Amino acid sequence: MADKRDYYEVLGVDKGADDATIKSAYRKLAKKYHPDVNPGDKEAEKKFKEATEAYGVLSDPDKRRQYDQFGHAAFENGGAGGAGGFGGFGGFDGADMGDIFGDIFGDLFGGGGRRANNGPMKGANVRASVRITFEEAVFGCEKELDLNLKENCNTCHGTGAKPGTSPETCPKCHGEGQVVYTQQSMFGMVRNVQTCPECHGTGKVIKDKCPDCRGTGYVNQRKKIQVSVPAGIDNGQSIRIRDKGEPGTNGGPRGDLLVEVVVSRHPIFQRQDMNIFSTAPITFAQAALGGEVRISTVDGDVMYDVKPGTQTDTKVRLKGKGVPSLRNKSVRGDHYVTLVVQVPTKLNEDAKEALRKFDEACGNRPSGSTEKKKKGFMDKLKETFEDS
Ligand SMILES: [Zn+2]
Ligand SMILES: [Zn+2]
Repeated sequence: MADKRDYYEVLGVDKGADDATIKSAYRKLAKKYHPDVNPGDKEAEKKFKEATEAYGVLSDPDKRRQYDQFGHAAFENGGAGGAGGFGGFGGFDGADMGDIFGDIFGDLFGGGGRRANNGPMKGANVRASVRITFEEAVFGCEKELDLNLKENCNTCHGTGAKPGTSPETCPKCHGEGQVVYTQQSMFGMVRNVQTCPECHGTGKVIKDKCPDCRGTGYVNQRKKIQVSVPAGIDNGQSIRIRDKGEPGTNGGPRGDLLVEVVVSRHPIFQRQDMNIFSTAPITFAQAALGGEVRISTVDGDVMYDVKPGTQTDTKVRLKGKGVPSLRNKSVRGDHYVTLVVQVPTKLNEDAKEALRKFDEACGNRPSGSTEKKKKGFMDKLKETFEDS
């Protein structure tokens, strides 16, 4: 024991380090040197053991006090501390160890290590989805969901035991729901806590199973659930309905029902947050002369006064014709309409003639005008070169 390194030094923390610092230092080292991460690496294995031993002492207030006072001697046989020898993990409290390993190795290897719980537990949340139209999302709606939900079995009232019998205390864990295993490992004896395999953590076993639920205490039932979809909800948002999830265990509350809203696409409206976007066609004459055009909104059609000389792709705003705020229905976004000038493709002779006249009246004819412009440009180009 003489060549043993100081525990604080091993973990790389100050003498005054608090529990969180010590834990986090150990986590780092354990992750780095864990034998599963460094298979066959003796040096890593040594470091891992060393760090684990240091953590075992420094994470325990009593042992830490003894160590601070007597150093390593505190844990040697017959040492001043009289801790009865720190042989491997003999000094670890089982539950504590479960915590640490659950924590660290849950991180490392993803999952596992959760402690069993046979106290009241909230039931699991249930997820469902509801499809609604664009307008239903804007104005809100009532929907009825037909769901297959886990319910307490009526025959056994959720106990899982055949009527007239009752569940018995699990003989393996004596109702604790968890069992402590002592395992010989390369770094000494490890006491590990696991969910009782006999009762799966419930602390109870059922000898005579209820015939209706086969001992599970639950049955699946189709249930109709009313969902109030609030005005302003958007695609992908969820509505939480409290206490409509799975039943809790050991008297715990029910879980929640989380309903995801799926909004169908609209043929002409698009939405971004609280604003609605659409395009509306206007004729060439309407664009040039101005006039009323009919525009569809979620509130129905409105007449909009197009200004004379409106260019194609002009955006106009219909204030307050957008989506209501989820928090306050009376606050609404706007509706932006892009006016698109339609170029006529099917013209009869009269219309063609009228257009030719129109062009002439605008001074756009005769067609020689392009020729003139071109000439002017060439002259300009010539001048430029002559100047230089
Ligand atoms: Zn039952
Ligand atoms: Zn058990």
